[in-house]
Amino acid sequence: MGGLRTPAVIGWVSRMDTRAVLADAAQLLHDDVYRQLHLVEDLADSDWSEDEVELAHELISELVVIVRHVLAGHRADATGNCLACAQLWPCQVVVTTHRLVKHPDHHFVRLARKQCGEGW
Ligand SMILES: [Zn+2]
Repeated sequence: MGGLRTPAVIGWVSRMDTRAVLADAAQLLHDDVYRQLHLVEDLADSDWSEDEVELAHELISELVVIVRHVLAGHRADATGNCLACAQLWPCQVVVTTHRLVKHPDHHFVRLARKQCGEGW
């Protein structure tokens, strides 16, 4: 008796609803950020008008700011763990960022060699 109205079921539904809402919110946040990044990728792949050249210049600066902000929290504390994710530093965020920036096929390396010489 009681079926879906028992306290145990109501409590479970309440907990599940909270988790489901948080999961949906996380998915929406993830999707929104990826949608924005996709728009930037689309811009990079298009022939640019003068307005889009200016937009691209501004986007490059903003993307650098975003990467810096992401990395800023991922610093080692006194115990050698990351302040943001409590993993041994360098954490996966720092390792992945480093690997992508230093990848020889990416333009970061080409730019650094152009600006700082081949020894970079
Ligand atoms: Zn971290």
